[in-house]
Amino acid sequence: MKILVINCGSSSLKYQVFDMDNESVLAKGLVERIGIDGSRLKHTKIGMDAVVTEAAIPDHKVAVDLVLKSLLDAKVGVLKSLDELGAVGHRVVHGGEEFASSVKITPAVMNALKRCAPLAPLHNPANIIGIEAITAALPSVPQVGVFDTAFHQTMPDYAFRYAVPERYYKEDHVRRYGFHGTSHRFVSARCAEILGRPIEELKIITCHLGNGSSLAAVAHGKVVDTSMGFTPLPGVVMGTRCGDVDPSVVTFIAQREGAEKTDTILNKESGLFGVSGVSADLRDVEEGMNKGDAKCALAYKMLTYSVKKYIGAYAAAMGGVDAIVFTAGIGENSATTRQMVTEGLEFLGVKMDYSKNNFRGEERVISAPDSKVKVIVIPTNEELVIARDTKKMAF
Ligand code: AMP
Repeated sequence: MKILVINCGSSSLKYQVFDMDNESVLAKGLVERIGIDGSRLKHTKIGMDAVVTEAAIPDHKVAVDLVLKSLLDAKVGVLKSLDELGAVGHRVVHGGEEFASSVKITPAVMNALKRCAPLAPLHNPANIIGIEAITAALPSVPQVGVFDTAFHQTMPDYAFRYAVPERYYKEDHVRRYGFHGTSHRFVSARCAEILGRPIEELKIITCHLGNGSSLAAVAHGKVVDTSMGFTPLPGVVMGTRCGDVDPSVVTFIAQREGAEKTDTILNKESGLFGVSGVSADLRDVEEGMNKGDAKCALAYKMLTYSVKKYIGAYAAAMGGVDAIVFTAGIGENSATTRQMVTEGLEFLGVKMDYSKNNFRGEERVISAPDSKVKVIVIPTNEELVIARDTKKMAF
């Protein structure tokens, strides 16, 4: 069976086509600048060069039609007919408290997604538009929603509630939700496989460190805490997001700049970018640090220190830890980050072998063989999880 996986942003649409007989990717692509001048589709049939099509793409419906046309193309396509598509899976950012697992899309689910939209005003409306565009193009193909928040729904109330008046939770749904749940789920399950032990026996800290970053404490297969919150803004220092700050800093800046500008400052102008003054990309910050730039060195230290603190906190929250997993752009690729985060964690039972750490983008255990706590790099694969859930839930 072939499954199309879609990740819709407000002006973009990413996709992959899987052959679920062997879980291989047949094609992938990205539509950019939907509704903006200069829109284009970059489509890659696996094993061939990417093909870029520049065209007016005023909305997601036109984007979906263009993607389907590419999938059927005689040269770079991977389908003879759209009937070969068994199902379509969508990444949906926010499932609120309505969804604790992936779900087949029905009219009732669409209504629930619309109820969740105010919680993720930038993302969920785009996800809904993507589902509607597929429904228009492929009305008889089943669709499944896979939520970034769902894996975190197992958190206990003392971890997900904020100590603000209860009415903000009861009436406005203000609480910790957490994000990157699909990635935390994939790498924690894979970690258990690598260790050859049932996940129900394990306490795992998963560090998804990318442009956006979050950690999760996964005890016995269930999330008990995670570092992102009501939105993806809190937690560790990120590319442009500030991570944890004293909430009074927010009101202080807001009094000067207004709420909207403050939101932009904390989400888009802070983090590595705000501290280094150089870049949101850790590679640039690392280059600056290596050349002796003090601001870059500070930004790097702040990021790795914040991750280290969360590891300590989550080991305490779970009463121990069996494995620490690094994943996503930084976690998979940055040996320096992995070293700076793990140095000094010997008290927890972490014993590193840094001679194994100098590599990028593959699955590998980087702790010493006699380390009580295993430290493992696991490339994440959110699209594959979406494809697997879609296959399971669509019929
Ligand atoms: P993601 O959001 O998971 O795609 O991660 C993207 C981020 O990973 C980039 O912004 C970089 O900061 C980081 N990254 C990718 N490769 C490297 C590398 N070799 N060293 C350090 N950081 C990297």
